[in-house]
Amino acid sequence: MAKKMWFGNCRQCGFPRLVSHLLRWNSDGTINAVFRKGYRVVISPTEFLDGLFTNVEDRLGISIRHLVFEAQSNATKVLFEGTPGARLVSRLNLGKRFTVEFGFNRLASMTGMFRSETLEYVPGSVGIARITNPFQLDLAASIIVGAFEFLEDCPIEYSWEEDSPNSYVITVRPTPEESDVAKRLKMEFSPALPGELNCDRCPRCGVPRALNHLRWVDEEGIILDRRTGTRVMMSYGYMVTAVFREMAKELGEEVNLLLVDAQREWTIRHVGLLGLTTGDEPLGDDELERAYRTYLGDLPAYGQGNPVTLELLDPGVRIEVLNPYQKYIMAGTLQGLFEALEKTGSAVEWEEGRPGAVTYTITPA
Ligand SMILES: [Zn+2]
Repeated sequence: MAKKMWFGNCRQCGFPRLVSHLLRWNSDGTINAVFRKGYRVVISPTEFLDGLFTNVEDRLGISIRHLVFEAQSNATKVLFEGTPGARLVSRLNLGKRFTVEFGFNRLASMTGMFRSETLEYVPGSVGIARITNPFQLDLAASIIVGAFEFLEDCPIEYSWEEDSPNSYVITVRPTPEESDVAKRLKMEFSPALPGELNCDRCPRCGVPRALNHLRWVDEEGIILDRRTGTRVMMSYGYMVTAVFREMAKELGEEVNLLLVDAQREWTIRHVGLLGLTTGDEPLGDDELERAYRTYLGDLPAYGQGNPVTLELLDPGVRIEVLNPYQKYIMAGTLQGLFEALEKTGSAVEWEEGRPGAVTYTITPA
């Protein structure tokens, strides 16, 4: 039997109460953690990450594993270091055990990243956990290492072996080796541009109704979108963003274009799964606009940004988004949406008029 992970669900809409207590949905297209102002959270599909890093490696002809790992584990450490009270709790062995059991394991499940079960934990010596359904194995492992580097306040080495399909036993130990994790990562959250979104919310818990179709499967450590059967996760506003920023510094802008492309492909599939488009014929003007508005209307509930204008061009479309969670991912989202609805290949360009306000123009190509 899976342990009960929640303080229960909202009696009105069924949304997990722990999640609605910890997060706030703002009127500017962002979600932030209640305990930490300006700390951004996003709900995103996991599927577009599948094969993304392998694809980047194939295109560039070099291994990026190390870079991805460092960026992600360091981002995780920075996250915990900035959490009020976390450092204090981690000074005591009891606090460490508590953090592992009720912090890390629950957080992993709550965010839909993976299911984590502690098999053994001796503070300062060894931690062994079974990880099931990691959203992406390398990133999941680097998050665990980053979390333990914070907890033990020293470099951590790790190893893993496959236990059964989608299940891994991961072992972490302090290592005397000085970590060469880059210190350059900082939490950078630009202030969000104000918005006036007035979405339909549950009167009891305040969560946007657009999220009613999400289902937490605690025993599997995943969150499913009931409409499409696909998986989403909640991540801090640093995941993927930090990794790709570091990759772009080392490898050039090309990596960002691969990110756009992976998201474009996923979005085409997503739009189809949502039934916003059927057949091979382009939609009529009214239907087309409605489909655009439906898809864009959901983005704020996911914390992905605030689409403020939609302009149908002849040909093409122009969309301004305030506070996009990640501007390359948003470029891929809008490009994929265009291609799915207009049934044609495309090119996307964007311009950031002022920080946080990005205008995307997508045209047939
Ligand atoms: Zn509710």
